[in-house]
This record gives sequence, structure tokens and C-alpha cells, in this order.
Amino acid sequence: QQALPYIGRFAPSPSGPLHLGSLSCALVSYLHAKQAGGKWLVRMEDVDTTRVMPNADSTILHQLEAHGLHWDNSVVYQTQRQEAYQAALSSLQAKQLVYACDCTRQTIKTKGRYYTSYCQHRNLSDTGNALRLIIKNNQASFDDLLLGRVTVEPEFCNEDLVLKRKDGLFAYNLAVVVDDIYQGVTHVVRGADLIDTTPQQNYLYGLLQSAPPQYLHFPVLSRAPGKKLSKQNHAKAVSTENTYQTLSVALTYIGLAREKQLATQDPSELLQWAIIHWSPKLLSKQREILISDVNEV
Ligand code: GLU
Repeated sequence: QQALPYIGRFAPSPSGPLHLGSLSCALVSYLHAKQAGGKWLVRMEDVDTTRVMPNADSTILHQLEAHGLHWDNSVVYQTQRQEAYQAALSSLQAKQLVYACDCTRQTIKTKGRYYTSYCQHRNLSDTGNALRLIIKNNQASFDDLLLGRVTVEPEFCNEDLVLKRKDGLFAYNLAVVVDDIYQGVTHVVRGADLIDTTPQQNYLYGLLQSAPPQYLHFPVLSRAPGKKLSKQNHAKAVSTENTYQTLSVALTYIGLAREKQLATQDPSELLQWAIIHWSPKLLSKQREILISDVNEV
């Protein structure tokens, strides 16, 4: 039996430049792909155009390149993939698996902790409403390359997934699955904040007749418990100067501290060293890694 080719990817949302947390995630995804002799793709997840910051895509690409994180193939933009999302949605609609829903977060909250298919039989119009996928008897568990067997709350993983939002934009959960299938992605390395939606995404893979990828959910970097570095809380953008130092700091967070620094201070050489020495076993199994502001380069 022939082993599958390894195709990994990094899929940032261009809602701002990379901070140390997102750069570290890119780094893990890159190291894991390159150690396996695989390809490493970059996809701009700009499907939510309301959150896109002008030029953040080129800033992100520049930040990656400056740190020696060169990607394979050309960068895919989700805004160019609308037809593929529509085709997937239509195929699910043809199987009667989609219904319109006008619930707001607030109305869902007043009914209980989870969304329990309230609109499924209300026959609301598709226009001006969100479109949800019917999810039934979903598998609450999946295997993670870092965390082992992960089990999510069964009520949550059976919540009918929004495929298209009320404002007419395709939802991230549909786009990410359709794109990973299209790009032949075999390994998804991403933040631990996406663990909970993984079973719903896996369900969608099944309906689209594809096998889910292998996952590695990387702990988010936080300044304090529950306070992850994010664009929303104004985490500092990673500078494109002193890239060797930045990479060294990011490597320590993923358990790869280099005792002797390289004389050249060349990020590419440091990456070559890291590709050889990297192992998921070095990573913390927590969902977050606490860092101090001082170390936020
Ligand atoms: N675009 C998502 C983010 O920036 C990542 C999605 C994924 O890796 O599956 O958080």
C-alpha cells in the first residue's frame, strides 16, 4: 500500500498581520510538512469579507517569506472560490439536507445552550436567512496527532452547521472543508480554538464523499489564561526585521530551544535545523501556552 503524499497548509484570515501566535502555528504546520517531505500550501481565508483588512494578505505573505517560510504552489484566495462553495451547497440542498434559519445568537440563547434545529420544519425562505446543514448522529470524537483521542460535547457537534450566513456570505466551516478537499490537504495543523468545530467539519467531509485530513491542534499562545493573542486584542504584528530572533523565540514555544545559536543568524539555516529536530512530542498538550509580554517579539 502506497503512503498518501503529504499536503499541509496554513490558512490565515487576512484580518490583520501575523502575531507571534499565528506565526508559531505557521511554523509548526511548515515543519511538520517539510519533515514528512510534503508540500506546504498557503490559503487566504478571506471568505468573511467583513473582517478583511486591506493589504493584510500581502503583509502576511511578506512576514512568512521574511522568516523563510516559503510555500508551494500559488496562494488560493477564498473570495475566488465562490462557485465551488455554491456547488457544494447546491449538492447538499439537492439531498434535502439544508434549511433556512432566522434565529439570532440571542434567540438561540433564550431557548437553551445549544441550537436544536428549531427552524428545520418552519419552511422559511432562503433569502435573507442563514442556511443550515442538518446534522444527525455525529461522531463526537476524532484523533489528533498531538492530543490523541479528542471528544467534543455531543450536543455541540450535533448542532446544525451554518453553511451560508444571513448576510449572504458563505460560512467559514463550509469554505474550509470544500477548499481542503479541493487542494488535496492531508494534514491540517491549526489552532486549538478550532477543536470544537472539527467533528462538524468531519461530518461535512462525509457528506461530500471525502475522508477528513489528519489534524494537529496547536495550543494558542496567551498572555494570561483565556486571553489568547489575537488580532481582536491587538497582539503585536511580527516584525520582518530580526527574523532569526523571532524564529528562535517561536521555536522555544514549540519545545525546540536551540542551545547553541547559529553563527550565521540565518533564518533558513535555523529552519533546516528545526525540520530535522521537530517532533509533535515536544509540544505542550495544553490548549494554550502562556507567554509574557516581554517575549512577544
Ligand atoms: N482561517 C482560520 C484562522 O485564521 C484557520 C482555519 C483553519 O486552519 O482551519 O483562524
